[in-house]
Amino acid sequence: MDKIIAHSIPMVDLKAQYRTIQSEIDEAIQGVLDSTEFIMGSAVGEFEAGFGAFCTADYCVGVSSGTSALMLALLAMDVGPDDEVITSSHTFIATAEAISAVGAIPVFVDIDPHTYNLDPALLEQAITLATRVIMPVHLYGQPADMPRINAIARDHGLSVVEDAAQAHGAALNGAVVGTMGDAACFSFYPGKNLGAYGDAGALTTNDSEIAKKVSLLRNHGRRSKYLHEIVGYGERLDTIQAAILQVKLNHLSHWTAARRRLAARYTELLDNCELVLPFVAEDAEPAWHLYVVRTEQRDALLDFLRLRGIGAGVHYPVPLHLQPAYADLGHARGDLPVTEMVADTCLSLPIYPEMTDAQQDTVVAALYAFFDQGVA
Ligand SMILES: *Cc1c(COP(=O)(O)O)cnc(C)c1O
Repeated sequence: MDKIIAHSIPMVDLKAQYRTIQSEIDEAIQGVLDSTEFIMGSAVGEFEAGFGAFCTADYCVGVSSGTSALMLALLAMDVGPDDEVITSSHTFIATAEAISAVGAIPVFVDIDPHTYNLDPALLEQAITLATRVIMPVHLYGQPADMPRINAIARDHGLSVVEDAAQAHGAALNGAVVGTMGDAACFSFYPGKNLGAYGDAGALTTNDSEIAKKVSLLRNHGRRSKYLHEIVGYGERLDTIQAAILQVKLNHLSHWTAARRRLAARYTELLDNCELVLPFVAEDAEPAWHLYVVRTEQRDALLDFLRLRGIGAGVHYPVPLHLQPAYADLGHARGDLPVTEMVADTCLSLPIYPEMTDAQQDTVVAALYAFFDQGVA
């Protein structure tokens, strides 16, 4: 038995990040406390303008979470019972929950074995008379193949809602994610690339009708304080979260640059390791929410890393079509072979802007040590 050293390298280090921006954050929170404008205070509009500009989108609407952004996008497009929405099974369950929440049916299509995103070649055969929307996920911060997805959607008169929850600042053909579909939905869950200190989300779009409808839906259908134009929801972005996000937005570009540098460094250092490394399409600049490798010995490697205090993870071990929650869709193992293969073999390595080269070297050394000792 070899000697186990406790390194304690987490998947993400929110404390380290807070320490680098503490005075700005504390001041922003204090400003909201002093104003007591906790709901729809001025920081909400300021952040919407800032994040909209960051995404080069004409409109940005802050909401209470990434899940609610997805749900409200579908509601704004009048998607409802008996409608079908095509999406991936290899994603966080919120993607499909938003579809279910409006009464529609998620239709899972298999993923591309290289990008792990929706395989455009399989879309056409999944389209039926009930299909209304295609919902690609830019998983791990790798942009989906939007030109091909949009072309298919256009041919069939479908809308496109991007699940960009992991892809703040990811780019495709030089354009940043957020306006490639009809609407894009972002999560600011604390561990995301742009994270609030609680739940938060936003929708970006160049479509004024969608923006207007989502603005109404998130705030009880209000046209004014006591006048409700439509039946809506309570899904607003909190002022305190908006103020925090506004501070963090100013740091997002250099945080993304740090992630890209670390990702390139992993790819270089792991060149001789028996791992399948992330594929990056020629026209893509991922945001590297996660750096995901694959191996047939995934579970043993995960245990090996955890014993050494390295916080690796699995995103996601059970695909949505095989979740108990979606048993009613009648899927069985074998239905989505690429999704299932990736779910069985994927492993997320620690990556976050504050990670040091020394920490990354420790992770890399542990990976080589695992394969050298022939653990099977
Ligand atoms: C985080 C996430 C969501 C949900 O966002 P919340 O803000 O947690 O509601 C949706 N889709 C994907 C792919 C995510 O990673």
